[in-house]
Amino acid sequence: MTALSSAQEELLFSRTLLLEDLDEAALSRLRQSRVLVIGAGGLGCPVALYLAAGGVGHLHWVDGDLVNLSNLPRQVLFGPADEGQPKVLVGAAALGRLAPQCQVQASAVQADAHNLPDWIAEADLVVDCTDQFETRQLINRLCHRLGRRLVMASVIQWSGQLLLLDPLDPTAGCYACLFDPTTQQADAACGAFGVFSTAAGLVGLMQAHEALKWLAGLPVQTGLLRLVDSRSLEIQAVRVLRHSGCSVCAGRPAGL
Ligand SMILES: [Zn+2]
Repeated sequence: MTALSSAQEELLFSRTLLLEDLDEAALSRLRQSRVLVIGAGGLGCPVALYLAAGGVGHLHWVDGDLVNLSNLPRQVLFGPADEGQPKVLVGAAALGRLAPQCQVQASAVQADAHNLPDWIAEADLVVDCTDQFETRQLINRLCHRLGRRLVMASVIQWSGQLLLLDPLDPTAGCYACLFDPTTQQADAACGAFGVFSTAAGLVGLMQAHEALKWLAGLPVQTGLLRLVDSRSLEIQAVRVLRHSGCSVCAGRPAGL
């Protein structure tokens, strides 16, 4: 897994291990974890960078898009010379230089109903960094069915949302409880509405932060939709309860 010696790894994570509530066993859980990151945009870039640098052992990064100059203010693993190249291939090469202790697998294809079931089943935790309503619903449905932890987020203009879903919690709702998958939902694409660079960075780092804590075995709050206003730096939280008519989680235990 590692391109570093054990002595180098010890030094690399020495400040992490100085934390009172993070011991060798927690770091070991992180180092052995396998995370699927779907999307390599304004959220996916900071997520992948901090998961890889922060101790995740294996990262599978999926995105079918190519680097465009308009991405660069938010997607900080790419530069102008990368224009036209597959994002995850450029990103994986950058992570190979910056965080060689993390094994990165890059799939330069769009996530869909054919490839996601196997990829989600292989992961300990999934981070959704996509910006398509239907893809989000698919990821939510598959994570519930396969019993995989899910960290979702979205960002547009100055605002973001963050939601951690534990499919093994019988009382918590899911993304489909919150947004009915049968309704028409316009995707709030950055290309149409704009996005402030560090708003994406902030919300992406919140995703990586919660994913690292969860993987290490530290407490996290699941089933809570956090609404982030990056202008005021205010965060509101709304409990997501299981909807009795939900087509994904109502009356259906996770993992079935
Ligand atoms: Zn639900």
